[in-house]
Amino acid sequence: MSSPTVTETFRAIDVIRKKRDGVELSRAEIEALVNAYTNEEIPDYQVSAWLMAVVLKGMTRPETAALTDAMLHSGEILDLSSLPARKVDKHSTGGVGDKTSLVLAPLVAAAGVAVPMISGRGLGHTGGTLDKLEAIPGFNVNLSVAEFRRVLEACGCAMIGQTAEIAPADFKLYALRDVTGTVESPYLICASIMSKKLAEGIDALVLDVKTGSGAFMKSEKDAAFLAELMVETGERMGKRVVAMITDMDQPLGNMIGNALEVVEVVEVLRGAGPEDLRELCLETAGWMLHLGGASASVAEGKQQSAKLISSGKALEKFRQMVELQGGDPRVIDDANRLPQARHTMQVASAKAGYMASMQCEHIGTACVILGGGRERKEDSVDPSVGIVLHKKVGDRVVAGEPIATIYYNAEAKATRARQLIEASCEITDAAPSTKRPLIHRIIEKSGEKN
Ligand code: URA
Repeated sequence: MSSPTVTETFRAIDVIRKKRDGVELSRAEIEALVNAYTNEEIPDYQVSAWLMAVVLKGMTRPETAALTDAMLHSGEILDLSSLPARKVDKHSTGGVGDKTSLVLAPLVAAAGVAVPMISGRGLGHTGGTLDKLEAIPGFNVNLSVAEFRRVLEACGCAMIGQTAEIAPADFKLYALRDVTGTVESPYLICASIMSKKLAEGIDALVLDVKTGSGAFMKSEKDAAFLAELMVETGERMGKRVVAMITDMDQPLGNMIGNALEVVEVVEVLRGAGPEDLRELCLETAGWMLHLGGASASVAEGKQQSAKLISSGKALEKFRQMVELQGGDPRVIDDANRLPQARHTMQVASAKAGYMASMQCEHIGTACVILGGGRERKEDSVDPSVGIVLHKKVGDRVVAGEPIATIYYNAEAKATRARQLIEASCEITDAAPSTKRPLIHRIIEKSGEKN
């Protein structure tokens, strides 16, 4: 008689205790855990305990590779070789006001590089691409694989979430991590991002790894560690992966909240919008075009992207994608067709001076409190609420002047959000002497930093 396999003898409690005690798990044990959770054979509470043990004890490289592979193989890996264009995607590790994906998918597709994008919902204090897209009435992020291909073939980009068919393990683990304080692990973030991106059938990937007070990796050192982990994973799978370490010490752009962020996306696609958001979109698009073979260099890709915006081609591509995915394209010309909050409240500055810093994570949390994110897995998101910032770090502030406007539907939540924003903004007499760069560094190969 042959001896029983790990799958036959698997008990979640053993794997939880091993991880808790700092013992390295085998590939078979990690696969068994991921498969059992994906197939609903073990409950949320056991997986939550295991995730927390991972956050506290970390993972070895072989464990991280095993987790990424198990999550990747929990669903289908798309074969898009029938599509003649090169396929390139991007993904951010999560930020506040980071709506770049909605600009980049149509912008890059307008240059002839296909973007088959699988994204996530809001995670912790950060916003999620899917929640932003769903602020557009009718927009369907739950396309089947066949529909996803159809949209991609028709317009060169398509944006969906993890499904029962693609990356189902990430679908479940992502929602659980969101509400159990288990997001902030480089190993879990790497497996989550790389499992869904490698399932997309892409040729290359640009990663936007955030650092600063609004990022999951607060220090640049931790962000670089995560970036290297993901670049290394891409290399192991034969993909070209470039990681940009970018600033998240204050929100990106001025608008935070799902419908509000769609408004800012349209502004950027019209050639306007806040400078930091526009600059990051152009830089990322430059890399995507270069890796997609549409430009000889990143600088040329950036210039080409700026032209696709000024010619209106990128906005037209956005309109086409919205329409193909069932959304109401009229929101592009009339923002009043997006969900609207019933009330607004100003956050006034208590003193004159300069905006010296913002506790960016708390500003993201203020938006979650308003209803723009989830506190429990079952929560639905209110697309209409959010925050518009009137000041960025370094700006001069007059006493009593509004530094932000809160869009809300429940007074008590707005009051809590206002208190958090007030406490998050540090106003000093003197202007801050240094300005953090928007792009801190680029990591193109594991072990190599620029
Ligand atoms: N984005 C993801 O897709 N997963 C994470 O864990 C964090 C950011």
